[in-house]
Amino acid sequence: MRRSKGSWVIAHGSPDLAPRIRADLGAVPAARQTPPGSPLSYFLSSRPRSRSSDIETLVKLSAAFQNTTIVLVEQTFDETVSADARRLVMLNGRIVHDLPSTGGEITSSAVEDLFKRIADDPPNLTPESLRTPQFTAEDWMNRALALARRQMGKVAPNPAVGCVIVKGGQLIGEGATGYGGRPHAEEIAVVDAGEEVFGGEVFVTLAPCGQRTAGRPSCSHVLAEAKVARLHAACEDPHPFAAHGLTYLTASGVDTSLGLMRDEAQTVNCGFFKVIRTGLPWLAIDMDPSRYDRAFEPVPGEDHGVALKRLAREGVTRMFIRPDTKLAFELTASGLVDEIVSP
Ligand SMILES: [Zn+2]
Repeated sequence: MRRSKGSWVIAHGSPDLAPRIRADLGAVPAARQTPPGSPLSYFLSSRPRSRSSDIETLVKLSAAFQNTTIVLVEQTFDETVSADARRLVMLNGRIVHDLPSTGGEITSSAVEDLFKRIADDPPNLTPESLRTPQFTAEDWMNRALALARRQMGKVAPNPAVGCVIVKGGQLIGEGATGYGGRPHAEEIAVVDAGEEVFGGEVFVTLAPCGQRTAGRPSCSHVLAEAKVARLHAACEDPHPFAAHGLTYLTASGVDTSLGLMRDEAQTVNCGFFKVIRTGLPWLAIDMDPSRYDRAFEPVPGEDHGVALKRLAREGVTRMFIRPDTKLAFELTASGLVDEIVSP
């Protein structure tokens, strides 16, 4: 589950703003000291669960204190998703920049750079810069795909799925399939969104499961119960047991759509799909082992095709072999290689 280290709030422009942030947000001054005479103030908000209400409060404050800049640097750590951050810049009652994470951890030097950039060059006040960015459905699905990609090779025998929940143009919750395939991405995202999930719009890289083998409520039941308004799934779940989630959601009154960025989503789970279709895992020649369940290591005397089928039955979906090896040549010659990833 998501754990948070808290968010940085940086205010710039008015000395009166700092006490208001402290009072309205319940934030504490950050360990980093504001330089004397600097128009900057740094705060630490340690209320990860209520970050949407923090954003709302800060937008209102930025409306009350015209021509001040407030930056929220979200910093979270998650057991299933690597560290993730968002940077929201607010000015005159609007979010003027919303920079979603491109992955990786926000380091103290990245935060320092941001401070410096704001101190040296406050965001300009042109009408264009005041425009609240409107994210497209593709932007949100791309974020869900990025979450899913980070879990490739860590979730077998299940597919790696990413889920993002949005409301009023803002991210309210997200998640990716946990290690070993549980929890499912939608379960994490619904918990992450908390009570705001009601009426939300869901972007998920695979249609939510209709049933669970583990006996827990399926993701389609969890989402219907949470009363989300809309759901976009990138592609169908071909697993015979998990299928029919979309039918259930539609029958429960959720507006569902299927196929947004289907090709990208199918690439993420090509191994899962191939096992269902053929009984064989995805096999790639690749230097980088990070997105695979494991390396293919033949057992002496066992036919490669037979070995791959056995591994698929054992729950392996994505395998790799290193390039320029005898094994790579043998498997390529046997037509068993699906993909050659160039460095
Ligand atoms: Zn599920």
